[in-house]
Amino acid sequence: MGSASPSPFRYARSRHVRRLRPGPFSKPRDYIDALAEEFYHCCVYCLLPDVGGGSFEVEHYRPESQFEDLSTEYSNLFYSCRGCNGRKGKKWFEPKQGGAYIVNPCQDAMADHLWYERLRVVPKSKAGQLSSEVFRFNDDDSAGVREDLALMLAEVWTRLVDFRKKRKKLVKKIGQHNLAEGERGKLEAALQKLDADIARREKLLRRACGRHATEYKV
Ligand SMILES: [Zn+2]
Repeated sequence: MGSASPSPFRYARSRHVRRLRPGPFSKPRDYIDALAEEFYHCCVYCLLPDVGGGSFEVEHYRPESQFEDLSTEYSNLFYSCRGCNGRKGKKWFEPKQGGAYIVNPCQDAMADHLWYERLRVVPKSKAGQLSSEVFRFNDDDSAGVREDLALMLAEVWTRLVDFRKKRKKLVKKIGQHNLAEGERGKLEAALQKLDADIARREKLLRRACGRHATEYKV
């Protein structure tokens, strides 16, 4: 098993409970490292991971322009890609049960409102519908970035699976007693290189599939 490529694009079935308590800091920007860790290096709204080095920002759930006193309040801050943060901007809709508002990953089970069908976001509630309109999840740019990323992850994953198989064989070979000394040295060097290749890909995939990393065993 484990042949499906790791993907960050699956909304959570339960609300996010914050694990960290950073600060207090006087500038919102100072929370960025904690937020990245808190939200597994993925945008809380569209789930895009920051692995490609794209620009990620501190997002104010309740906008700074209207809720100045919450501008450095950790519970009001999210980790978001620049696209989602920019599109949301100063927009604000007071959350109401069953109403149209911007989904809040710490208050809502995101999967009740938004769903990924392959790489397209499908709204499942009024709040999901409004959020999809605000964030324009499926516009060409966003969809294109996701397609490229999914392709890259699939290729890295295929390679990793292949390398792990190779490693098993190599370890078995090294374990044989009748190896010539020169031969053993060569195989051990190959193993060292293979381990570095594996570690690099595991690190990339772990970061790219966010909170799902352990499920994918990377
Ligand atoms: Zn986003």
